[in-house]
Amino acid sequence: MALVRPLRLLLLGAPGSGKGTLTSRLLKQFPTISSLSSGDILRSQLSSGTTLSHEISSYIKEGKLLPDKLMVRLIGGELDKRNWLNKQSTWLLDGFPRTVGQARSLDQVLKPNEASINMVVELDVDQKVIIDRIEARWVHVNSGRVYNLDYNPPKVPFKDDITGEPLTKRDDDTAEVVSKRLDLYNKELQPLKQFYQELNVLHTVSGNTSDIVYPQLAQLVIDNYSHINN
Ligand code: AMP
Repeated sequence: MALVRPLRLLLLGAPGSGKGTLTSRLLKQFPTISSLSSGDILRSQLSSGTTLSHEISSYIKEGKLLPDKLMVRLIGGELDKRNWLNKQSTWLLDGFPRTVGQARSLDQVLKPNEASINMVVELDVDQKVIIDRIEARWVHVNSGRVYNLDYNPPKVPFKDDITGEPLTKRDDDTAEVVSKRLDLYNKELQPLKQFYQELNVLHTVSGNTSDIVYPQLAQLVIDNYSHINN
């Protein structure tokens, strides 16, 4: 489906709320959208063995957020590298900004380029459901593809559908780290939502499975950025 004007979307959701799965589905339905996941960008740096990669790794393992300044530098640089800092570009961010400080700093980069985020969708998912979901989550690190053994299993057990490479568990998907990550998410959420509410771009969709949430999300994109009939 084609979009009629540029969409710059932020998906706001707790760890395990389905951001990765929903992103894949959006990209399939709206092929002009490109996506960037801050978690994937950080994880792709981990194998480099640099001082920065050790620093990143210790934050992730403990379920802590990286400092805003570092995140803005990393993701701002990535947006620039991808040539996304202009008013024609259409993209989706997953996992960044995650604090109101990041949101403000990002907007200072985007606004002068007329490329501010124009839609934020909060994924409201029951946090008890999230904990069960993360336990069943396996990932293909190189591509960021996410599988769930209960409702979205790989075709061959523990192998990526596209490359056939082995799937792994994320180090930070343990019960202890997940509960820390959820607490942090809840703490940052209200000021972040308020920031985007004041910019008049905030929407919320609710439901405990991606099959329930996805149609609501796609409808928001269609209503605001596409034609119903194309
Ligand atoms: P995610 O894949 O989005 O769940 O991110 C995994 C981990 O990467 C988080 O628990 C944080 O340690 C780190 N991270 C990802 N995005 C951000 C961000 N915007 N700000 C700070 N830390 C982040």
